[in-house]
Amino acid sequence: MPATTIDGKKISKDIQTEIKQQVADFVAAGHAPPKLVAVLVGQDPASQVYVRNKERACKRAGIDSALIQMDATTTTQQLLELVDQLNHDATVSGILVQLPLPSGIDSQRVLDAISALKDVDAFHPENVGLLSQGRPRFLPCTPFGIVHILKRSGITTAGKSICIIGRSDIVGKPMALMLAQKDSPLGADMANATVTLCHSRTKNLAEICASADIVIAAIGKPEFVTADMLKPGAVVIDVGINRTDQGLVGDVDFEAAAEVASQITPVPGGVGPLTVTILLENTLKAAQLNQ
Ligand code: NAD
Repeated sequence: MPATTIDGKKISKDIQTEIKQQVADFVAAGHAPPKLVAVLVGQDPASQVYVRNKERACKRAGIDSALIQMDATTTTQQLLELVDQLNHDATVSGILVQLPLPSGIDSQRVLDAISALKDVDAFHPENVGLLSQGRPRFLPCTPFGIVHILKRSGITTAGKSICIIGRSDIVGKPMALMLAQKDSPLGADMANATVTLCHSRTKNLAEICASADIVIAAIGKPEFVTADMLKPGAVVIDVGINRTDQGLVGDVDFEAAAEVASQITPVPGGVGPLTVTILLENTLKAAQLNQ
């Protein structure tokens, strides 16, 4: 029986409506609206689209936003000075430095310089440390978006075996940490999984994948996960965004996988919309923390 396709756009819209109300309540309580400042260095077209989407989503939720566009020749020092200024600006709730930065810039130094209380992407070592200790402050946008998708699709993770493919600091690694914890902000049934974190050096990846109740693919290789790598009835979450001649394609062979899985996210329209939504959630949280 073909899988149910999970509608990430609808889930995202529902959560954004809830955030809009929470922002309105925050403002009604006498606070200034939360404000997100995005810093974009250079002219990368994909980054420009992402930043514009984030600005539009902020506006819909009643969150103020500002874009600081910097020249591609900006130095690490200039960027550090800007971040310092934003850290000390009481009107700024959250700071987002759009990645990737031009190759001449020390990205790690810049990200580490963002105040941990304004770190809405949750990349700061302090926030990563808090997550690993099971007492998160901000949760990284894409992995936390996936937990929301699962919850709103009626899928729990406690006691399930979950195969995550990809160990990036942005998706795979924090995803593994979140799902293996004893608890989650969305409830203990959205944590407590038995997680296997697979990567480019994993042996028997297909076998591990085929034994999992939930497969989360964050690899960046078009249609890497094939139907024969899935247990019948598995839930499949496709994080991949690959630009091909056929348009945007995920890391999962969607058509074939949908014949085996019980529920599956499409690309586009699956995980992607949630990433922006959690950024809004984190910006509101930052505004509350920075009171
Ligand atoms: P990354 O390039 O930082 O990491 C890729 C990971 O895949 C690595 O850990 C690597 O070990 C693993 N990998 C590579 N080849 C492999 C193989 N043959 N077998 C097993 N593992 C292999 O990627 P990332 O930043 O995590 O992004 C992954 C994908 O997700 C990309 O397509 C990216 O565009 C997409 N993405 C989407 C969103 C979203 O909002 N939907 C957010 C972030 C990333």
